[in-house]
Amino acid sequence: MARSVSILGATGSIGRSTLDLIEREADAFEVVALTAHSDVEGLAAAARRTRASQAVIGDERLYPALKDALAGSETRAAAGCDAICEAAAMGADWTMAAIVGTAGLKPVMSALRQGKTVALANKESLVLAGGLMTRAAHGAGATLLPVDSEHNAVFQCFPHDDPSRVRRIILTASGGPFRTLSRDEMARVTPAQAVKHPNWSMGAKISVDSATLMNKGLELIEAHHLFPIGADRFEILVHPQSVVHSMVEYVDGSVLAQLGTPDMRTPIAHTLAWPERMQTPCARLDLAAIGRLDFEAPDPERFPALDLARAALKAGGARPAILNAANEAAVAAFLAGRIGFLDIVFIVGKVLDRYDPPAPISLEDVIEIDAHARDIAHQAMGVLAA
Ligand code: NAD
Ligand code: MG
Repeated sequence: MARSVSILGATGSIGRSTLDLIEREADAFEVVALTAHSDVEGLAAAARRTRASQAVIGDERLYPALKDALAGSETRAAAGCDAICEAAAMGADWTMAAIVGTAGLKPVMSALRQGKTVALANKESLVLAGGLMTRAAHGAGATLLPVDSEHNAVFQCFPHDDPSRVRRIILTASGGPFRTLSRDEMARVTPAQAVKHPNWSMGAKISVDSATLMNKGLELIEAHHLFPIGADRFEILVHPQSVVHSMVEYVDGSVLAQLGTPDMRTPIAHTLAWPERMQTPCARLDLAAIGRLDFEAPDPERFPALDLARAALKAGGARPAILNAANEAAVAAFLAGRIGFLDIVFIVGKVLDRYDPPAPISLEDVIEIDAHARDIAHQAMGVLAA
């Protein structure tokens, strides 16, 4: 029997890697829904190839274009944010949540409420609303599997039946493209340099997050929700080769790690086949060719995003949502050439200083905090540009 699958964010880096795996075993999967924000051509082509039941474009103005592109195919067209949530609620056995940023939160909640399996790439949703998401998953009997390479690595090494056996979780970080730059040098980097990651090929937003190390900060908070062993038991270790994807240290001193070449199709395949395993075309790890693996402590002076994220994790409440929203607004402004690279984390710090609402209780609270934090970020960036 074919397994039914949906991909939210099918045209992005993770979405395309997921399609690649699914299309290699076309008989094993039946595609229910594919969604995208504005890439009509990419979405329609993927829907035709996979004979998806539904394709949804987030930008409603593009509905006529999507309908035209799907004319004569087996795929129904739809448009708008609500239609993405409806697509997420079509009950696929397995859903890839690969929309970038806060935009992914409502769709992922819809998918979790189906009580099936959700493979989560959209780490921002967990940072914003981790408690609500894990409770929704638990309430609906859904399985949440981490796609992020570090968290997927931890998932593979973690003693799920008895977490008290774990002493520490060590998340590895490549250090990004500016690992060895001084603050002065970082002040001058361009968006084009920031999106060019040394090891991984990824979407623009996460590439900038990897360059500021905010990505690792977001991942600390993500890890805390997925593996709740205590906020002070997570460590970050810079490992430029991105071969050891993360580690779990047990109380007896044993450390288990998951290794592999840096290709997101490996963690995606792990979640797609789980609890089984499937073939992938990924390059095999050749440690003799690599020769050496390096590790170093992260530098909080040059990468202040780490301390901001750790403080947000420890304080909890609305702090992680504010961190995430301000970062998303600042990264968008950096990519648009409106602020400098160092301004990104500076703005996040400013927004955290100025805004301290009570802890959110509902999804609506989270969305309101997110919107307000973005407004404050835009004000702060306006002052910066003036
Ligand atoms: P991407 O920019 O390549 O793709 C994003 C996808 O989301 C696209 O399909 C786009 O159409 C869709 N999208 C964007 N804005 C939207 C909106 N407002 N409404 C609906 N859909 C929207 O990003 P990516 O690199 O594939 O990353 C996706 C998610 O996975 C991010 O949360 C990222 O942090 C996470 N992730 C990515 C990688 C990676 O290697 N790329 C690794 C780990 C985690
Ligand atoms: Mg990661």
